[in-house]
Amino acid sequence: MDIRNWLTEHKKKDLLRRLTPVKRLPEGQLVVPGQTGPSLLDFSSNDYLGLSSHAEVMAQSRHFLELAGCGAGAARLMSGDLAMYHRLEEEVAQLKGQEAALLFGSGYLANCGVIPALVGRNDAIFADRLNHASIYDGCSLSRAKVIRFHHNDLNHLEELLHKQRGKGEALIVVESLYSMDGDRCPLRDLVQLKEKFNCLLMVDEAHATGLFGENGGGIIEEDGVTARVDLAMGTFGKALGSYGAYIASTKSMIEFLINRARTFIYSTGLPPAVIGASLAATRIIRQEPGLRRDLFAKVGCFKAALAENGLTNLGPSQIVPIMIGDSSRALHIAQALRDQGIFATAVRPPTVPEGTARLRFSITRHLSREALQKAAALIGAALAAS
Ligand SMILES: *Cc1c(COP(=O)(O)O)cnc(C)c1O
Repeated sequence: MDIRNWLTEHKKKDLLRRLTPVKRLPEGQLVVPGQTGPSLLDFSSNDYLGLSSHAEVMAQSRHFLELAGCGAGAARLMSGDLAMYHRLEEEVAQLKGQEAALLFGSGYLANCGVIPALVGRNDAIFADRLNHASIYDGCSLSRAKVIRFHHNDLNHLEELLHKQRGKGEALIVVESLYSMDGDRCPLRDLVQLKEKFNCLLMVDEAHATGLFGENGGGIIEEDGVTARVDLAMGTFGKALGSYGAYIASTKSMIEFLINRARTFIYSTGLPPAVIGASLAATRIIRQEPGLRRDLFAKVGCFKAALAENGLTNLGPSQIVPIMIGDSSRALHIAQALRDQGIFATAVRPPTVPEGTARLRFSITRHLSREALQKAAALIGAALAAS
């Protein structure tokens, strides 16, 4: 591959990804160093509840740093198995309503490690077409046959299960809340299908844990299907404001993964400061449901303001996609908004399917109602002008 040509071609098609270094200010604001103009309102962060800067989360992170140093020093199966990991795993298992849990370095590593541990060459994976890249990479690494079904289309899934279930193990893998569309998986119907066809079911709750369910246990809790999901995956990097990830499941499954998941076995344990933050955040999620209510009140306020500007049907969650279609137009509108103080991501292929470029607004508790209303008006105007 000629790298320079590749870059030129992608730049021409407005498909080149670029890093934008920022500095965070309070109240959901960002500054881009070197750029003049006002600070930007951040609509691209997954720190939905603002826990990354919560006083207790920061204090416990500092405390664990002082207690145990900066790094674990080894993989957990060597000498790195700190007692604090087990505390966090117990808390997470409780939050997710499962017997046990296992920590991973990140959500990406969890998906890449767990899927190949569960299925192999003679097995099949049934995957929602809009699953996150880390799920796809886990599927590829497993060497199982990957069968993709239309997004959230359980009729299509059932048809494929009839035809291709096969004799081996079968794994169905979905997200409970889709990260680029903000829509939910029909989990209640899905658990029936998985039982009918005797499949394993893995649900990625990266964007749902901490936000949905009475105790913040995610959409599996809200939908009452916790006991029927074989593996619940989630990350600490989003609503929990920290870093790292987990799988929650049965004790025997966790024991199996400790022996089989290569991204667990061959990777250093998470840093103590990160565990301190995750422990505090997990506790806050369970004890302070008011934070979730506050967030969804703001989501409602933003959607109502968008509706006043003619934008409706924006889905059921804190992730608000505004469909644009063409990548260049999406980039152009994102830039126009940025010039007016609104930082939102233009999500383009290959992250989303061809022809479905969009602006993705992610609502956090940091954003004030005034900011949300102002943003909605600017979004309406930018769309009309483009
Ligand atoms: C963000 C995300 C991941 C990856 O999690 P990290 O902890 O950021 O590596 C996995 N799955 C989904 C659906 C995600 O949105």
